[in-house]
Amino acid sequence: MSYAGIVVNNEALSMDRIFTYGIPQNLTVSVGQRVKVSFGQGNKRIDGFVMRVTDEAPEGVSRLKEIQSVYPETYFDEEQVAFIEVLREKYLASYLDVIKLLIPRGILSGMKYKTSEKLYFVKEAEGRYDKDQYRSILSYVKANQGKLIKADLSKAGFSVSSVNTLLKHGFLSVMSENEYRYNIEEYEEYKARNLNEEQLHAVEKIKSAPGTYLLHGITGSGKTEVFLELIRQNIEKGYDSIVLLPEISLTPQMIERFKGRFGKDITIFHSRLSDGERYDEWHRVKSGKVKIAIGARSALFLPFQNLRLVVIDEEHESTYKSEMNPKYNAREVAELMMEKQDGQLVLASATPSVESFHRAEKKEIELITLQNRATRSVLPSMEIVDMRDELMSGNRSIFSRTLLEKMKERLERKEQIILFLNRRGFSTFVSCRSCGYVFKCENCDISMTHHRDNSLMCHQCGARKYLPKTCPACQSKYIKQFGTGTEKVEESVRKFFPDARVMRMDRDTTRQKNSYELMYNDFKNNECDILIGTQMISKGLDFKDVTLVGVLAADLSLNMPDYRASEKTFQLITQVAGRAGRGDKPGEVIIQSYSPDNFAITSAQSHDYKGFYRREVEMRQALNNPPFSRLFYLVFTSEKEDLLIKNIQSIGGVLRKHLTKYDNMILLGPSPCIISKIKNNYRWQVLIKGEIHDEAALEIRNLIQQEMKPVYKDIKVSMDLNPNSMM
Ligand code: ADP
Ligand code: ZN
Ligand code: ZN
Repeated sequence: MSYAGIVVNNEALSMDRIFTYGIPQNLTVSVGQRVKVSFGQGNKRIDGFVMRVTDEAPEGVSRLKEIQSVYPETYFDEEQVAFIEVLREKYLASYLDVIKLLIPRGILSGMKYKTSEKLYFVKEAEGRYDKDQYRSILSYVKANQGKLIKADLSKAGFSVSSVNTLLKHGFLSVMSENEYRYNIEEYEEYKARNLNEEQLHAVEKIKSAPGTYLLHGITGSGKTEVFLELIRQNIEKGYDSIVLLPEISLTPQMIERFKGRFGKDITIFHSRLSDGERYDEWHRVKSGKVKIAIGARSALFLPFQNLRLVVIDEEHESTYKSEMNPKYNAREVAELMMEKQDGQLVLASATPSVESFHRAEKKEIELITLQNRATRSVLPSMEIVDMRDELMSGNRSIFSRTLLEKMKERLERKEQIILFLNRRGFSTFVSCRSCGYVFKCENCDISMTHHRDNSLMCHQCGARKYLPKTCPACQSKYIKQFGTGTEKVEESVRKFFPDARVMRMDRDTTRQKNSYELMYNDFKNNECDILIGTQMISKGLDFKDVTLVGVLAADLSLNMPDYRASEKTFQLITQVAGRAGRGDKPGEVIIQSYSPDNFAITSAQSHDYKGFYRREVEMRQALNNPPFSRLFYLVFTSEKEDLLIKNIQSIGGVLRKHLTKYDNMILLGPSPCIISKIKNNYRWQVLIKGEIHDEAALEIRNLIQQEMKPVYKDIKVSMDLNPNSMM
């Protein structure tokens, strides 16, 4: 008898292991297949995935359950099983978490192909069927062999019963065919550019040897052209390529460039696809019909056979780190994959992450630089406006006088303007002037954001309520709004420039399908003068007539409680500024700030990445922050506050004791999280900082899981190595 090691589809922690089942004689089972097994005392039927197959009987087991049935499809091979094991350990996840990255979403809920019954001509009419009515049907089908379904024939005016007669007597046949739910629409050819010297050098260097490369090129330096050329050469050798982009950079413009160059060999894989579309794209890749994938983080796990090139554009973006289990980092995973395949990983950015640049300095990865814009356009000129001076001289509006003047000028010249503010809503919070009461969400410990329809919204859980006329605490009528969001910017712009055509792009205005594309096209076709937006407009937009960019509150991201606050600020300003002056007309950027001397802002002003990096990396080292250490962030949540506090204190003690065995690790906390309650769950945190290698992290994880066993129903733990944010 043969045996199979199986991971069952059950999220429970205790199920995170490989169970052995017998393979009955009448079944053929191989690694990577989905099977049905019975499980537990009630013999419940449950799906599982085959991780290994062996002839050796497991020791000490007398009666084994057997696999009940097998699904035909194979989702991974033996090599990938090893990969699953690696990711599971590295990201402290479960088998199931990792397997779900590899199989198309929807599989476990019974997703299938959409099929259609296509008609085929078999033979000419003869005998008693040699009649006009039959002959005309047969010749019509013959001319459209394999393209028609029955409904097409009745639409064309043929009688259904005649068609059925022909089918019954073997003149026609039907074949069931899979139909893809996602069709590449029309596209215009996008001709290859003649690469300039810098670009050629980059291409040569990257293809010269396997490894990881950091492509640091200023905005508009032609990085995308470099990717396109690398992909072309990769295809020529018969290999596959993946390009990862942050979701918001996957603009119609970007997609058009790839489709226009490579046509149908490509899949666009992003979170807006339906489960059905994902299912089909996954199979298109598996069948080898597709050689290139462009997409967000999850595209990395598409089942390519000969993947040799992964490009991660805007590599500094935090979206490459998953916030859900497994909390993987696409940069790291891609590197593992390319190491195994002897392929190339290209990390590209105008503002590389401090982490990647530091690795390049240490020669762990190779740095390639593009210093010039690829077109004749020059980098925009940047001006910082001190908003404290504006206040002193009596200007209380959102806009500095300089910015207003420049806006007026552009509107007169019919050029376009982008205004960037990293905060949606109308005003940030509302409080009572008499007693100081702040309107907070009842489920979450954060202030609610005021929206223009006079509602208050929690940006954490989405709860909404109307703003009352009097303070709930003291009944005072002096309720005031503080801070500025994109809605308020829109209102102010309309007040200052009533004739301008204004558009706002943020999560609130792009909720509906296609609304993003519609706005995008309006702006592109010059049907809008001023575009206001959040991060959503900070990258990937390439509009020739934008000559002015206003960064309304450059300090917003500076004041985040995050060791990467400066880095994020520098990146944001540089990215948004890069939207200006991409055509023939030079661009200008106005940066409004209350801390105009901050080095993140001044280095962005002088386009000085290296200067920024030097100072930032010094500070990181002084404070022993990444990349000089690793962070292990643990969040404990529970609806029962008392129970949580009691247990977190004891966990803190156990951890502190455990960590004494290492030299370089410190423990911060336990303490309440910055957002101490979300959706009625109280939140406490512990932060471990130091030289935390993977094994130490695993040990800590196991220790915590052990300790939490008695209360696991009431207290949830999230563990994140190198987290994006700690809130
Ligand atoms: P990046 O990705 O670095 O921001 P892009 O690849 O988008 O830069 O290029 C910026 C602009 O320069 C695009 O309009 C592109 O068509 C153009 N471009 C890039 N490379 C060349 C080249 N070698 N010759 C002419 N135009 C180029
Ligand atoms: Zn009050
Ligand atoms: Zn809330």
